[in-house]
Amino acid sequence: MCGIVGAVAQRDVAEILIEGLRRLEYRGYDSAGVAVVNSQGELTRVRRLGKVKELADAIAAEPIQGGTGIAHTRWATHGEPSERNAHPHMSKDKIAVVHNGIIENHASLRESLQAAGYRFDSDTDTEVIGHLVEQELLTHKDLLPAVQAAVTQLEGAYGTVILDRADPSRVIVARSGSPLVIGLGIGENFIASDQLALLPVTRRFIFLEEGDVAEITRKSVSIYDKNGAAVEREAHESTATYDAGDKGQYRHYMLKEIHEQPYCVNNTLEGRLSETSVLDETFGNGAAELFQKVKHVQIVACGTSYHSGMVARYWLEGIAGVSCNVEIASEFRYRKSYVQPDSLLITISQSGETADTLAALRLAKSLGYLGSLTICNVAGSSLVRESDLAFMTRAGAEIGVASTKAFTTQLVGFAMLVLALGKYNGMSIEKQQELTTALKSLPSKLEQTLELAESIEDLAEEFADKHNALFLGRGDQYPIAMEGALKLKEISYIHAEAYAAGELKHGPLALIDADMPIIVVAPNNELLEKLKSNVEEVRARGGILFVFADADAHFSSDETMRVISLPHIHPWLAPILYTLPLQLLSYYVAIIKGTDVDQPRNLAKSVTVE
Ligand code: GLU
Repeated sequence: MCGIVGAVAQRDVAEILIEGLRRLEYRGYDSAGVAVVNSQGELTRVRRLGKVKELADAIAAEPIQGGTGIAHTRWATHGEPSERNAHPHMSKDKIAVVHNGIIENHASLRESLQAAGYRFDSDTDTEVIGHLVEQELLTHKDLLPAVQAAVTQLEGAYGTVILDRADPSRVIVARSGSPLVIGLGIGENFIASDQLALLPVTRRFIFLEEGDVAEITRKSVSIYDKNGAAVEREAHESTATYDAGDKGQYRHYMLKEIHEQPYCVNNTLEGRLSETSVLDETFGNGAAELFQKVKHVQIVACGTSYHSGMVARYWLEGIAGVSCNVEIASEFRYRKSYVQPDSLLITISQSGETADTLAALRLAKSLGYLGSLTICNVAGSSLVRESDLAFMTRAGAEIGVASTKAFTTQLVGFAMLVLALGKYNGMSIEKQQELTTALKSLPSKLEQTLELAESIEDLAEEFADKHNALFLGRGDQYPIAMEGALKLKEISYIHAEAYAAGELKHGPLALIDADMPIIVVAPNNELLEKLKSNVEEVRARGGILFVFADADAHFSSDETMRVISLPHIHPWLAPILYTLPLQLLSYYVAIIKGTDVDQPRNLAKSVTVE
């Protein structure tokens, strides 16, 4: 789930491993650890509960030597976050292992290993891997076949790196359901769960495929597929940038990422629009042929990405004339669903590694969809590689756990899809032109919206002593209200709910009193008058309102209602624009609450376990 970094080199690698872990910190984790072994087979392991900094400080105080090493940031799935559950785990003081993912049959494996005399030092599922390898080594005598034999007994998901202190010349890695990438150096090689971790040491990468096991030495990389056959996997020169290293003038990555949105949206649009429409190649080779046949769209995603899918449903049905369903991936994957004729499956994920979404895509392949498209921010990720088409959001590395720029660029991706599919479903040239022009003006509108940051910071004061909040929207702003509520929950830990404003009288009105702030997103669209009636329902019951509205919506501030005017925007794109003030509001409320904004408690950036 979290981070893996490994190295086989001549130089001491502890610092490289720690820097790698730092670059993966944004994914969220609860503990960190490293083990290095020197050429005499002396192994040193250091683990700490808490931040990578704790681990780095411990190593700075007592440096560790060794050219072969493995390191990990853990996001606990089995066993509480603690030093003894932190990876690497050891078997018989000989085999060291780090692991991302979940071993589902750990309980039965643990039982038989215990019966065979293995002592368990942790509560993790991971520990069985080390002991299994140690056990297999007794018969196979060599680490590679021992790991190959061990992984056939594992059920679940793993990206794992194993080292044997008796042979410091290599590590063995295995991937099934959790990503691993090999970094090629000169006279040294590396492994990580994400290429970002290795950019300081190399730009040449091999992405392992599902079921691969690889042996990595200083000078060689040998890869075997799931049948044990030796395979060649192409090396890629990475163009990825780690623009996250620096928060610049900003106090948190999240604030930086909020402010980057005009630039990121511009990036996302760049080179993809003609005068009148969107270029089909934007979605990959063969997009035009596929899009011509699409009569229905099934969107599958989790969390914030799911909210972008919900907005897309309003757009696809309302503007492009294509019917659309949206479902949470963890539900979709375990439900028998009916596939509409000529359906396109769309997955959305910032990381491209979201376990439930990936499983949904894999399942959908057997269900008879026309094809699959992913909207994703990470090139080379599993979703991108396994989908027929991909739309890259080009938001750059998103480090804050609470998603901001990934969400708005996903919406831009859907806006372009609306144009692309609309074209094949009778959208007039004039309409296409109108929408294209609107889209091109979006970055500057976002820029203007961010100028509201100071007034939103003032507003946040009013939430300092609140424990609940209600977000209201209608139509395509309803998912934006949901996203606003999710953001507030994630980083300020205030309980927040979103309602489609028309639903108020069916229940939530009972909650309204002066202690419940109500946030309303009110662009100037065809539902404005209806929304105004909903606002009056709240006012009549003593609720305190915070209304983000178009200047022409004619709301006026008074003692029960604060109105924040947003720039005019084409109503189609209002969901993107109205997201920004809600992100800023959550951010400033979290600052007042003093929470860990970039790494909120209990959350991970990229949810690569079920
Ligand atoms: N399931 C393992 C554990 O709980 C690995 C978790 C992770 O991916 O960080 O230790």
